[in-house]
Amino acid sequence: MTADCLFCRIVAGEIPATVVQSTDRVLAFRDIDPKAPVHVLVIPREHHADVASLAAADPALAGEVLAMAGEVATAEGLRDDGFRVIFNTGPNGGQEVFHVHAHVVGGRPLGRMLPS
Ligand code: AMP
Ligand code: ZN
Repeated sequence: MTADCLFCRIVAGEIPATVVQSTDRVLAFRDIDPKAPVHVLVIPREHHADVASLAAADPALAGEVLAMAGEVATAEGLRDDGFRVIFNTGPNGGQEVFHVHAHVVGGRPLGRMLPS
């Protein structure tokens, strides 16, 4: 656990979260400020700062995060209409919590990928 990392504290059970899926290496829980009818965050239990660091350090774990993102989409009924998986990365990417997380969002049309 990395001291004062919000998501490490969720993994440790120090901060409550609404967990929707869990394995020994990966955790999925609902975003506290959902931007769509379904908005779930998928994280590795181990601390990695962002998706590039995770993929470089442990590609198998990155795959487990993606696999759980797909399973969450299925469990939340998003597979037919579609959904989006987002890894905000770094300042220009709008990342606010520096423990890698996949946003799984759906349940309504999400519009263009980026404002033009
Ligand atoms: P990002 O901007 O990509 O780093 O996303 C961070 C996300 O974490 C935001 O969507 C927040 O709403 C979400 N968030 C912050 N604190 C919590 C929390 N305690 N439980 C669940 N989600 C959180
Ligand atoms: Zn962390």
